[in-house]
Amino acid sequence: MSRYVGRFAPSPSAGLHAGSLVAALGSWLDARAHRGSWLVRIEDVDTRRSVPGADGLILRQLAQCGLYPDEPVWWQSRRGADYEQALLRLLQQGLAYPCSCSRRELELAGAVIGPGGERVYPGTCRDGPRGEPRAWRLRLPAGEAACVHWHCARLGTQVDAVDRSVGDFVLKRADGDWAYQLAVVVDDAAQGVSDVVRGEDLASSTARQILLQRALGLPTPNYLHLPLVRDEQGRKLSKSEGAAAVRPGAQALREAARALGLQATGDSVQQVLEQALAQWPRRRRQWSQGAHALPAR
Ligand SMILES: [Zn+2]
Repeated sequence: MSRYVGRFAPSPSAGLHAGSLVAALGSWLDARAHRGSWLVRIEDVDTRRSVPGADGLILRQLAQCGLYPDEPVWWQSRRGADYEQALLRLLQQGLAYPCSCSRRELELAGAVIGPGGERVYPGTCRDGPRGEPRAWRLRLPAGEAACVHWHCARLGTQVDAVDRSVGDFVLKRADGDWAYQLAVVVDDAAQGVSDVVRGEDLASSTARQILLQRALGLPTPNYLHLPLVRDEQGRKLSKSEGAAAVRPGAQALREAARALGLQATGDSVQQVLEQALAQWPRRRRQWSQGAHALPAR
């Protein structure tokens, strides 16, 4: 059996909020329960959304919650050389291509909006861009190979026809920023991540990441997508909806544990972590047993 390596990979647009603390705690618990290591990676490839200082704040807040990474933290903004190399490899193999389409041109071309709300790229530049390249895209495999069947330990078997949901997706953007999908796949492999435990909002990215892993000849990790935190009205909380920042400490950890279906009543951070860890294996088993019962996405 290979070694368990898990990670928490926040984007530094703000400090921790309720949802990201749940992802941090869930990934930490799963790594500890497997006697593996837990890494933290700052996903700051999106330079327009990254806020200076938010990375340091997140790391301090994790420490206040007793969540310490086992290895030095990685910053994606320092990893460009590796992403460049991956893109070059794909270009050389004909698995990536430059695209000159602007957003407006895609609208005019009648590109349909996929189920995830993204415009499905119609493949306009597959045989060569018609102008200055604005982005680089992955060339999806033909037919059934673009339809990914993957497994989540909580959601069960998922099927995503990426050619119909997003089409040839962007690897590097017009503004020079690396796409989230490429950075995640290259980094997970470079860090030897065996298990990806993250929020359910990222489940829709998984098929794209698996296609990229296949194109680059990289292994596919195990996936566990955690339940999303909801407010009193049952609405999903996310950063983009202005989720409130958490005040790190035992109280915030108890609430994060509750969102994961764990009952932790301890007064100190250490007690809460110990209680949550003791219940984690059973929680995980319940999820995998109920996985078939959850509706397909
Ligand atoms: Zn194009």
